[in-house]
Amino acid sequence: MSRMAGEGEWPAIGIDLGTTYSCVAVWQHDRVEIIVNDQGNRTTPSYVAFTDKERLVGDAAKNQVARNPTNSVFDAKRLIGRRFSDSVVQSDIYLWPFKVIEGPTDKPMIVVTYKGEEKHFAAEEISSMVLKKMREIAESYLGTIVKNAVITVPAYFNDSQRKATKDAGSIAGLNVMRIINEPMAAAIAYGLNKTDIGGRNVLIFDLGGGTTDISLLTIDGDTFEVKAVAGDTHLGGEDFDNIMVKHFVEIFKRHHKEDISGNARALRRLRTACERAKRILSSASETTIEVDSLYNGIDFSSSITRAKFAELNMDLFKKSIELVEKCLTDAKMDKRGVHDVVLTGGSSRIPKVQQLLQDLFDGKQLNKSINPDEAVAYGAAVQAANLAGRGNEKVQRIVLMNVTPLSLGFEYAEGEMAVVIPRNTSIPTKKQMDCTNKYDNQTSAWIPIYEGERARAVDNNWLGQFELSPIPAAPRSTAKIKVYFEIDANGILNVSAMEETTGVSYKITITNYKNSLSTEDIHRMVLDAKKYEVEDDKHRKKVRAKEALENYAYKMRSIVNDKEIGGKLDAAGKEKIEAAIKQVIHWLDGIQHAEENEFEDKLIGLELICNPIIAKISRQP
Ligand code: ADP
Ligand code: MG
Repeated sequence: MSRMAGEGEWPAIGIDLGTTYSCVAVWQHDRVEIIVNDQGNRTTPSYVAFTDKERLVGDAAKNQVARNPTNSVFDAKRLIGRRFSDSVVQSDIYLWPFKVIEGPTDKPMIVVTYKGEEKHFAAEEISSMVLKKMREIAESYLGTIVKNAVITVPAYFNDSQRKATKDAGSIAGLNVMRIINEPMAAAIAYGLNKTDIGGRNVLIFDLGGGTTDISLLTIDGDTFEVKAVAGDTHLGGEDFDNIMVKHFVEIFKRHHKEDISGNARALRRLRTACERAKRILSSASETTIEVDSLYNGIDFSSSITRAKFAELNMDLFKKSIELVEKCLTDAKMDKRGVHDVVLTGGSSRIPKVQQLLQDLFDGKQLNKSINPDEAVAYGAAVQAANLAGRGNEKVQRIVLMNVTPLSLGFEYAEGEMAVVIPRNTSIPTKKQMDCTNKYDNQTSAWIPIYEGERARAVDNNWLGQFELSPIPAAPRSTAKIKVYFEIDANGILNVSAMEETTGVSYKITITNYKNSLSTEDIHRMVLDAKKYEVEDDKHRKKVRAKEALENYAYKMRSIVNDKEIGGKLDAAGKEKIEAAIKQVIHWLDGIQHAEENEFEDKLIGLELICNPIIAKISRQP
């Protein structure tokens, strides 16, 4: 049930923190509004770039990637809450142009050069910069400070990833009201459009920029529950872009007898053009790719049809559909049992993908009335309104059920993982399992606890362990030990064990993970974030002061050169202005570093010389 909230909790926004793009929304005027960013876009690239002069976030960061690949950071979501030694991290590292090293306690750290200095950032910090950007987008739209937010994460995120995402929010100065599952958010977005939902099975098809996430939910009344998830962490829009790039590299070879595949800059520029073309092909049946001076001064221009694009990507499209079937199998549900199919993720706008999905469900109408790349933020905004005690009656009735994203269990016998709580179990929950002594006359037992799906316990995430002692000496496999796993509504796991004959018991609460941030870490990162903010601000002011000076100097020059106005100037006045402008432009060309006030001083100096002379002619008839 929602709780009453004070005025302090409003405004409250919903943020979809995506791997490739993020989106922010708010409940206003009795509906959800997706907030556009300063570039007029409804989604913002989850990119942060560092240059020798400034830090850029969002579109500005993505736009300069070709020039600055090693210091442009993206995919922080693939790192957040993971250990450096995690096999996912180890394989992703090869794909990134930026550097990731092993930090303290096996934490991955991103290495960049910022203003000529080497800097190390945790994934939480990079994500916090993106969240901050989303917060600022909302603040400039609402015209007020925004503190409260609901942030979404994939359904398969484990506790450590969720906690790290929450930490990123704290670093961004946000009060994270709740972390919710992306598919639930998408379902909420659609749940609102229905007047009567009862016991519905909803399949959420999320084909995004880098990943495919399929979830099966049940919505009963106003309660949402995840039944199963399936997905591919490397299947999404960027793969379609890459395939298109390969196609055009071949075309270029054929037309111009040149191979551009070794030229990283040319490939990046081509990829940008391909992404744009791909989006256009979701609404048009043909488009043209044009890149000026792509390679060796050759301007590239070539067309592509929607059908060709679909043909090139057909294997990948089919793979995404197979994942839907896998999810249904996992949930032991026949496709005819699915009441609703919801599209989310920007790539689900692709007509061919929609058609394949619709075919799988025997022609069923798909839910796509909310823009797929905005549905998650939409639902997060509804949830934020719910938690803040705002919104209409429907918004207030929503209750979310959470599930364990991963199986939980302990190491048993020959190092096997004994699963006590299977993944996708609704929480809160309490489960029990019997176990026994491994050796003859064993007097104590170690119980190491893991989360994950692998058969060997050590291949899963280690969460903690405890020793049950003493237990009565007995022959092997005769002791009676009961192990209890309990997860409360907040997702906190309690494990206890009891030896039945003696009644000896032990209990452990697992709240924190080894590599998650400590309060001090978060505090330090918040301070760092403030420092960067001050620096960014200083830089922005400096750029503005420089622009003002340049604009004024060039304006004066054009006045002097103007036949009509300039003609009215006497020779001495004209000469004086020209000399002053020349001096300023010379100074501007020569400076490496100058502060805001130096630009301002120069401007004042120039104005003092020019304005009186110009004023004289403007008073002339
Ligand atoms: P994320 O996966 O990071 O959550 P999104 O769901 O916003 O991000 O998906 C981003 C992907 O969607 C990008 O690869 C983008 O090129 C793609 N995309 C966005 N709009 C369209 C469109 N109209 N047609 C095809 N692909 C699109
Ligand atoms: Mg997404």
